[in-house]
Amino acid sequence: MTSSDFREPWLRVDGEPARAFEDEAATEIASGHELHGLTLAAIAKCEGCDSVVYRASDGTFAIVHLSWTRKSETPPWPRTTRLGGFVAVETAMDQHEH
Ligand SMILES: [Zn+2]
Repeated sequence: MTSSDFREPWLRVDGEPARAFEDEAATEIASGHELHGLTLAAIAKCEGCDSVVYRASDGTFAIVHLSWTRKSETPPWPRTTRLGGFVAVETAMDQHEH
C-alpha cells in the first residue's frame, strides 16, 4: 500500500493522523446518526475539504464531511454518504466535487 493508492485529491491516512479523524468522527456522531454505534477506521481524506473516508465495523464504508466542532452534532450531521463496498467507495471518490 502506498500513497499513490488513491487519486487526487484523496490522501491515504493511517497511524496518528488517522486516529485524529477517527476521534473527531466519534465525537461528532451522536445517537440517532446512521453511523452511531459503529467503529470507524479512517482510510483517506480529501485535500480540498473536510471529507474523510472510513471503513465501518459492519464492513461498509462511508464518506463523512467532518465539521471539526469537536462536539456532538445533531443528526443527520456530520453529513454522511454510506457506501456498501470498496468499488462504490472508489466511484464516489472519483466523482467527489467541491
Ligand atoms: Zn473534498
